[in-house]
Amino acid sequence: MMKIDGQCHCGRIGYEAEIDPEQVRICHCTDCQELTGTAFRFTAPTPQASFRLTRGQPAQYLRTGASGRGSVQYFCRDCGSSLYTVPVGDGPKIVGIRAGTIRQRRELTPRRQFWRRSALPWVPEITCAEAFDTQ
Ligand SMILES: [Zn+2]
Ligand SMILES: [Zn+2]
Repeated sequence: MMKIDGQCHCGRIGYEAEIDPEQVRICHCTDCQELTGTAFRFTAPTPQASFRLTRGQPAQYLRTGASGRGSVQYFCRDCGSSLYTVPVGDGPKIVGIRAGTIRQRRELTPRRQFWRRSALPWVPEITCAEAFDTQ
């Protein structure tokens, strides 16, 4: 496990967490492309108990995926940075931290990539990360 911390671009929202660097992943799905405004999403998942906001209160957007399952997307209402996501439903949850907001992001290498079949055609092979066509 690795201790990390991060913040949105304007700094009003901050968090800290413990993550498993081996779980860091990329998602090329079309929802992630639209929600991030870029080619793919870079995420560090961690159990909710290992994640804590240290300042600020993010805004929320409820995304309903193709499977019908929902997830709440948390972002900064002031600067628009995407910070983390939490699935809807009961029971222990996994927080998906948007790894581009993690201060230690240069130390993180993705190990898996999902929805490779919708990756943009110019995205190179990412050899450090095992690829799956869907989830
Ligand atoms: Zn902000
Ligand atoms: Zn995705």
